[in-house]
Amino acid sequence: MTDPITASNSRVRQVEAIANGTVIDHIPADATLRVAALVSGTDDQIFIGNNLRSTRIGRKGVVKISARELGQRQLAGLALLAPSASVSIIRDYAVVEKVPVPVPERFDGIARCANPNCVTNHEKWTTRFLVVCRNPLAVRCWFCERTFDTGELTLI
Ligand SMILES: [Zn+2]
Repeated sequence: MTDPITASNSRVRQVEAIANGTVIDHIPADATLRVAALVSGTDDQIFIGNNLRSTRIGRKGVVKISARELGQRQLAGLALLAPSASVSIIRDYAVVEKVPVPVPERFDGIARCANPNCVTNHEKWTTRFLVVCRNPLAVRCWFCERTFDTGELTLI
């Protein structure tokens, strides 16, 4: 008979465990590499798993960052790239906190406007997007008032 604890661990551990740090889970598979690029600093140990099976979203990605938690700017970028992901804080191999990615009311200076005629693409303005729908996430440019799915935006 299979030990239920071992069986559940083998499902969870599709990517190497980390002692301390942050785990971003339930990333849509097509956003995983962009999330990894967003959160990795030059000295960080990063573990990436992609196209892992997920009962919730089909195929998913997981990104683990050793010995670090995310800053506000990285969390805002993550909210645009993978608004349905979860963020877990790991200490001594245990999950001490697991929350959905916090999605702010607005994003300032996080992404470029995808409208080529937008003033923010021609003059030096800090871009601003307001959340107009949370599920699925959609945002409106404060300057040109166009609405975008978050997949249309490029992070700055
Ligand atoms: Zn705009």
